[in-house]
Amino acid sequence: MPTATEFQQMLRGVSLRVTAPRMAVLSAVHENPHADTDSIIRAVRDRLAAVSHQAVYDSLHTLTAVGLIRCIQPLGSVARYETRVGDNHHHVVCRDCGAIADVDCATGPAPCLTATDDHGFSIDEAEVIYWGRCPACKS
Ligand SMILES: [Zn+2]
Ligand SMILES: [Zn+2]
Repeated sequence: MPTATEFQQMLRGVSLRVTAPRMAVLSAVHENPHADTDSIIRAVRDRLAAVSHQAVYDSLHTLTAVGLIRCIQPLGSVARYETRVGDNHHHVVCRDCGAIADVDCATGPAPCLTATDDHGFSIDEAEVIYWGRCPACKS
């Protein structure tokens, strides 16, 4: 878990003002990888009781826009957030309960799959989600 000082440096590094909601959202997302907005609101309120829903939404939006957090939304799921950014990792999602886990990219840098035909596009990402059943749902 990064220290408060490190979270402040992350915000300043992308020219964002350090605010209590942003700090609380960053640490809540860090502690609850792949949490949805409602869970993040609950976790943020544990540290910052007076924070409004709107302040949490705004912080999530801003932090996502500057790349400090990443938003993922597997099919059939609500938006989920994580602080693990920039490493092109993928996710495995349980078809039954929606559990999500991180999977390191098998090749490393994006795009990790070479398109058989790029149609002249400059491709920078292949969005990979592994689908299956988690250990609990399998048994
Ligand atoms: Zn499951
Ligand atoms: Zn992840």
